[in-house]
Amino acid sequence: MKIICVGLNYRKHAAEMKSQVPSEPLIFLKPDSALLKKNKPFFLPDFSEDLQFEAEVVLRISKLGKGISTKFATRYFDALTIGIDFTARDLQKKFSNAGHPWELSKTFDGSAPIGHFIAREKFSDLNDIGFRLEVNGVERQNGNTSDLIFSFNDIISYVSRYYTLKTGDIIFTGTPPGVGPVKKGDNLKAWIGNEPVLDFFVR
Ligand code: MG
Repeated sequence: MKIICVGLNYRKHAAEMKSQVPSEPLIFLKPDSALLKKNKPFFLPDFSEDLQFEAEVVLRISKLGKGISTKFATRYFDALTIGIDFTARDLQKKFSNAGHPWELSKTFDGSAPIGHFIAREKFSDLNDIGFRLEVNGVERQNGNTSDLIFSFNDIISYVSRYYTLKTGDIIFTGTPPGVGPVKKGDNLKAWIGNEPVLDFFVR
C-alpha cells in the first residue's frame, strides 16, 4: 500500500509556514513503514530536535482507479479517520533551504500514526467535517474540511493521473493551522466530528 500526502492544503497553515498557497496540490508519499496503528507509541527519532505534529483527515481508498474524474472520486474512498503527518521541521528547513527534496523529514518510520476508520456514510457532508487535536488535554488544532483548498475529490482526481490508486492506499489531506513540537511523554488525542479516533503517547 502507499500513503499519499497533500502539503499546504489550508490557507492558514500555509501562512503559518510562510509558504505560498500552491496553485495545484502539493503531493508527497510516505512508505508503508511510516504507518503506526492501534494507538501504538511514537518513538522520537534521534535525528531531529524539532519534531512537529500535523493533524490531518485521512481517506481510505476502497477501489482500484486511474484517471478518476472529480465527479466520481467520492466512490473511491469508503472511510475516514485522523492521522498525524509527523515532520522533522529542522530537517525540512535544512533540505528546503538547500533546494533539495525534504523527503526524509516526513517519511521516516512511524511518521504516519492513524486512528481507526469511520465509514464515509456516517458523515452527512464531506465538505463540512470538523476535526481536532489535543496534546496533553489542551486543544492545539481545530480544523474543518470546508477550509480545504483542494477538496477530497480534487485530490483523488489529481493524484490518480500520476498513481494508480489501489484498495488500502490512504491519503493524508493536509493540516489546518496550529502545528507544533512534541516531546517525550506527550499524549496526542484526535477527534473526527465527535468521534475520538486516535490516542497515543510520544516515547
Ligand atoms: Mg502535512
